[in-house]
Amino acid sequence: TEPIHIVGAGMAGSEAAWQAAQAGVPVVLHEMRPHVGTFAHRTGDCAEMVCSNSFRSDDDVNNAVGLLHWEMRAAGGLLMAAADRHRLPAGGALAVDRDAFSTEVTATLRAHPLVSIASGEITALPDSGNWIIATGPLTSDALAQAIRAETGTESLAFFDAIAPIVHAETIDMGIAWRQSRYDKGETEAERTAYINCPMTRADYDAFIDALLAADKTEFREGEESSVPNPTPYFDGCLPIEVMAERGRETLRHGPMKPVGLTNAHKPDQKPYAVVQLRRDNALGTLYNIVGFQTKMKYGAQVQVFRMIPGLQDAGFARLGGIHRNSFLNSPTLLDGRMRLRARPHIRFAGQVTGVEGYVESAAMGLLAGRMAAAQALGRDLAPPPGTTAMGALVHHITGGAEAKTFQPMNVNFGLFPPVEARGGRRGRKDRYPAYTERAKQDFSAWLAAQ
Ligand code: FAD
Repeated sequence: TEPIHIVGAGMAGSEAAWQAAQAGVPVVLHEMRPHVGTFAHRTGDCAEMVCSNSFRSDDDVNNAVGLLHWEMRAAGGLLMAAADRHRLPAGGALAVDRDAFSTEVTATLRAHPLVSIASGEITALPDSGNWIIATGPLTSDALAQAIRAETGTESLAFFDAIAPIVHAETIDMGIAWRQSRYDKGETEAERTAYINCPMTRADYDAFIDALLAADKTEFREGEESSVPNPTPYFDGCLPIEVMAERGRETLRHGPMKPVGLTNAHKPDQKPYAVVQLRRDNALGTLYNIVGFQTKMKYGAQVQVFRMIPGLQDAGFARLGGIHRNSFLNSPTLLDGRMRLRARPHIRFAGQVTGVEGYVESAAMGLLAGRMAAAQALGRDLAPPPGTTAMGALVHHITGGAEAKTFQPMNVNFGLFPPVEARGGRRGRKDRYPAYTERAKQDFSAWLAAQ
């Protein structure tokens, strides 16, 4: 059998390679790191998590991303297996030790007899073969140009921001304390996976003033003009200074909300706001500031974040940043099998197709890998039904979404066909278990038919 060529050993490419190889088809996985880097990746490993270390909710009954976990596990997904093995305590979320996770994914792929990893950047679209392009939101410039030349310059782009990471030993635990919101978590480790920094009203006011006044990164020339909307942030990833611009209280109702937390040092004093840090590695040496994506300049970040009580001496393992995120207008460009309509020997997978998030990207890799393998074996694999999380996502990007306003999408129950109301009226939340139950049945049937 002709090998499948996969470009990009990120979330999507790694899972695609695993699925295709498990189906018995040889794979060449092309990865440009470490020779050519991106601003966000640090290693040459497969499936590196570039920002948060969380795969989000693991609740497969009431949550759409948890359901996606379930489906990927059912399909023998490599990334979920590695995540489960390197899980860190984080309440209901699936947080992992990022280095152990990507080391394991890399080793497993390298050990697979049908996978070979080719080192180097792919700079042009191939003329023939069976290809999957999974180069992600930070697709290298040369390849991005080649894709743009093929698909037209209308491919959208927008901006994302990442949060800073702090060295735990530099946090003043005489001021900060460990506690998960509402003491959530089964084990002691889960209940202490968060460190909290309290703010009085005066602290908060001074902090907001500093945020508003801080030096912000300018977009590089040409970037802003190519974007249709003047502040094209993805709403789940708004920089904190943009939130602060929307209203002085916005942060206090968002990432800095003080609810469900009691200051262990001053139990009788209710903080006006709280900054939370979440454990970022198994050793517990690194903590990321939750929801603190920012495009402040580095110098300004250090100054402003050290105003947070408990972080006055903070050392930063990584500062926040802003980056461009490019993705295809998939509803017009891709067919129902995730292939470029104009060049059907090329499939796309991952964030570049207009899904958003580690889990969603890996899920689209899983599908693309299975579809490419089916094609190599002379079969056709239809996507799972739209009642499943994977099916709902792929249907959305390849046709369900409005092409004109297409934006990267997280999985959510809004993408699913409504469930029939049984036994009278039910609230939206009450319906979630019905969505997930239906999805599991339909996904299992789809798997069994292959
Ligand atoms: P990636 O995981 O980025 O993989 C793409 C791979 O392709 C990379 O290894 C890259 O080196 C390689 N590559 C690129 N161009 C070439 C080429 N020409 N030739 C060969 N190889 C190439 N999602 C979350 O769920 N949580 C987060 O906290 C989060 N934070 C993010 C922060 C940043 C800075 C960015 C950019 C994205 C973030 N995302 C986050 C979104 C997204 O889920 C991740 O980017 C995810 O890794 C996307 O998976 P992917 O497989 O599509 O791309």
